[in-house]
Amino acid sequence: MNILFFVLCANFQLSGQVDNWEQKAKAMVDNQILARGVNEAKVLDVMRNTPRHEFIPAERQPYAYIDSPLAIGFEQTISQPYIVGLMTSLLKLKGNEKVLEIGTGSGYQAAVLSPLCKEVFTIEIVKKLAVRSKATLARLGYDNIYVKWGDGYQGWPGEEPFDAIIVTAAPPALPPKLFEQLKVGGRLVIPVGSIWQELWVITKLQGGIMDKESVIPVRFVPMVHPEKPIPE
Ligand code: SAH
Repeated sequence: MNILFFVLCANFQLSGQVDNWEQKAKAMVDNQILARGVNEAKVLDVMRNTPRHEFIPAERQPYAYIDSPLAIGFEQTISQPYIVGLMTSLLKLKGNEKVLEIGTGSGYQAAVLSPLCKEVFTIEIVKKLAVRSKATLARLGYDNIYVKWGDGYQGWPGEEPFDAIIVTAAPPALPPKLFEQLKVGGRLVIPVGSIWQELWVITKLQGGIMDKESVIPVRFVPMVHPEKPIPE
């Protein structure tokens, strides 16, 4: 009876939090990401030290480190940890880059990028998600991430060119403005397609020539067009 009481109290105290998250993040990286061949040490280290549960609604936080995407509200998802690790390592960041992300969602991918580059500019089309992720990132102390509510098809005029661009929603075809806003020598990692999608790494060569490499088949939420114009 006493033990039962203790267990109930402990569970009650822990609801909405995640016990031993560092251990869970380490196991997530080792078993889901490194085990599948993503082995860039800096990326793995950042993911071991990023509190993924903080980016997930309280009722789903106990599942934060499982091998799956999770719902974050507004019919959107936070990507599976392996996909975050893979896409981040495909950007080949060295530390001084200005990076554009399309599809802020929970803010987790932006948080993973933050220590790996100079600045992250991230655009989210659902206003409430943009507001929420901005607040989460500020609360956790990220100070090189700029969140904008807007349409990712436009890129971020005024901040271009970007050294690297990562898109975490799938457009049916490569949005021309994103390629335009990429620096020569820069890398763009993007899922393209509708029902059948592929993850592409696109490099901009001298003279604006496009080099495309298909990595794996993937499944992302669609990159949508705004229903009405979004004011600046
Ligand atoms: N990177 C996110 C996961 C993104 S899910 C994370 O770490 O949590 C894809 C996100 O792209 C969704 O939040 C969706 O609202 C957003 N999105 C869809 N179309 C968009 C567009 N045209 N511009 C910007 N964001 C878009």
